[in-house]
Amino acid sequence: MREALITSALESATKAEEIGLPRNKIVLSCKVSGVQDLIMVYRELAKRCDYALHLGLTEAGMGSKGIVASTAALAVLLQEGIGDTIRISLTPEPGGTRSREVIVAQEILQTMGLRAFVPLVAACPGCGRTTSTYFQELAESIQAYVRDEMVQWREQYEGVENMSLAVMGCVVNGPGESKHANIGISLPGSGETPVAPVFVDGQKTVTLKGDNIANEFRQIVDNYVREKYPRKAS
Ligand code: SF4
Repeated sequence: MREALITSALESATKAEEIGLPRNKIVLSCKVSGVQDLIMVYRELAKRCDYALHLGLTEAGMGSKGIVASTAALAVLLQEGIGDTIRISLTPEPGGTRSREVIVAQEILQTMGLRAFVPLVAACPGCGRTTSTYFQELAESIQAYVRDEMVQWREQYEGVENMSLAVMGCVVNGPGESKHANIGISLPGSGETPVAPVFVDGQKTVTLKGDNIANEFRQIVDNYVREKYPRKAS
C-alpha cells in the first residue's frame, strides 16, 4: 500500500511536468491515516524526489487522539527536515470550531522551535499545593488574550511572537519557573499569603493581590510589549 501511494504520487507529478506544469509549482500530498504509514511514505518520498511535500495525517480523529496522532507523525518528519506545508485534520467537537486545526498546527511548529506565531503561556500542572482553579483560569484567559492581541501586535511590533509567559500555581516553586519566562506570575498556593509575585525578565518587579490580578497582569503584558519590542516602520 505504501509503495503504491509513493509510485502513484511520483508518476502523477512526472505526468504533470510532461504536460507543462513547472516543477516548482508542484506540491505532493500523500496523506494516510496511520502514523507509521505516514512517516514511512514521506521518508521515502523525500528520498526519491525534491518536490515540495505537504504533510498531514488524514482522518486523525477527535479531541486529544487527533492532536496526539497528528503531532506524533508530523514531529518525526519535521525533525528530519521533511515537509514544506502542513495541515492538521481534526474532527470538531459538536459546535466546535475549525480554527482549532490552525492553532494546533501553529503550536506544533512553535513548540518544536521551527517557527513562532503567538506568545505561548507555560503553566504548571497543579498539585496538592494548588488551592483553586484560579491559576488554570488565568493561564487560559491570558493565552486567549495574547492570541487576540497578536492580531494588532503583529502589525505594530517586531518579534512579539517570541515572548514567553508563565502562570504558576504556588509561590514556593512558581517563581523559579517564572524567572525563565519573559513574564511570569505565581498564584498563592495552599496556606500561602494571598499575593502573586510577578517576574519580568528574571527580576521580581511587583506583587499583585486582591480581586483584580488578571487585569493587572494583562496590563503588565501590554506594557512589556510596548516597551520591549521595536515598532515596525509604518
Ligand atoms: S508550581 Fe507549585 S502548584 Fe504548580 S505544580 Fe509546582 S508545586 Fe504544584
